[in-house]
Amino acid sequence: MSPVPVAPLIVTDARLRSGAVVDVHCADGRITAMAPVGELPRPDGAAVVPADGGLVTEPFVDAHLHLDKVHTLPLIGDAALEAYTADGMADSARGIDLARAVKQHYRVDTLLPAIRSVLADGERNGVLHVQAFADVDTAAGLTGVQAVLAAREEFRGRVDVTVVAFPQDGLLRDPGAAGLVEEALAAGADVVGGIPWIEATPADQEAHVEWACALAARLGRRVAMLTDDTADPVSDTTRMLAAAMRRHGLEGRGVACHARAVGHYDAARQTALLELARDVGLGLVSDPHTGSVALPVERAVALGVAVALGQDDVEDAYYPFGRHNLLEVAFLAAHLLDMRSAPQLELLVDLVTTSAARVLGLPDHGLHQGGPADLLVHEATRTVDLLAHHAPPRVVLRRGRVLG
Ligand SMILES: [Zn+2]
Repeated sequence: MSPVPVAPLIVTDARLRSGAVVDVHCADGRITAMAPVGELPRPDGAAVVPADGGLVTEPFVDAHLHLDKVHTLPLIGDAALEAYTADGMADSARGIDLARAVKQHYRVDTLLPAIRSVLADGERNGVLHVQAFADVDTAAGLTGVQAVLAAREEFRGRVDVTVVAFPQDGLLRDPGAAGLVEEALAAGADVVGGIPWIEATPADQEAHVEWACALAARLGRRVAMLTDDTADPVSDTTRMLAAAMRRHGLEGRGVACHARAVGHYDAARQTALLELARDVGLGLVSDPHTGSVALPVERAVALGVAVALGQDDVEDAYYPFGRHNLLEVAFLAAHLLDMRSAPQLELLVDLVTTSAARVLGLPDHGLHQGGPADLLVHEATRTVDLLAHHAPPRVVLRRGRVLG
């Protein structure tokens, strides 16, 4: 961000999701006041952004996106996608093995244009925070991470990108990947990644989680893993991650993405796991549009777990669509998770804004006096229209400046 103070700006007639209509006063990149319309004087020289009664929300937070892989599906064809999704995800690990073929195309200069376009799409759609997973494995080396790190610098000050060093093919299954994770962190990646569910045995899964959590604790980093990305309820790696976070003092610093098999646990086991996740501050990210089984999102929220929805994939070996539009993701989730009542629609918006910020532990996110002047001005005046149309915001404001 520029250290130069940003001129005052007022968003007038802003409708909050609470129903209140206010003027939002911003200066020096912060929200200085939220007051009834016309109650506070306009400072000299203040810019005015009329919201005209449209909804004004926090920016969207994408808690899980495979950013190095975006738009790579045309390079490798459908075989991996078919294997990942066939028979209710009965053999999803085979899809991951087939998807490895895309790595022969990995070069920073060939990956960057697609990465840029997806971050720019997100920016237009009001996605100003992204937890980006970048593969590190013996096929890709550090190429995916290098491309994502380059994009992170290009978008600095507009879109915040947190980079996860993600060993897509496992650690024990892919000897050499662990060293690459450490190299990626030394090169600038932020978060220790993992994918324990893909390892061959429960003992290997435990070893995978243990290694990653020990590394995160030693380096003072967060962890973010893909857990239980299968329909098989035998899969138990979300619990392994929560237990390891407790062992290593990583409370409040972990995220589990997918956790699909949890949807097939019996009620008692589900409750025990979700209570453990809550107690150790393990945030969960669900992506019901990219697979046929989903985490029980409402149950997790009801038990006090921090939950987000993520874009997950954009036209890659696992999912053929995606526009980096989190309102579209929430709209799809409304159908796939059977959430259509008014309170459920409000929750869906929380899952891509405030609740997603909680999952990632973002320290500075929220629409309130003293908060950052990061906000979205929407055409829609009702939450139902926000989701139904999943249109880009009319105005995207970052630290008191209009983007675009
Ligand atoms: Zn994923």
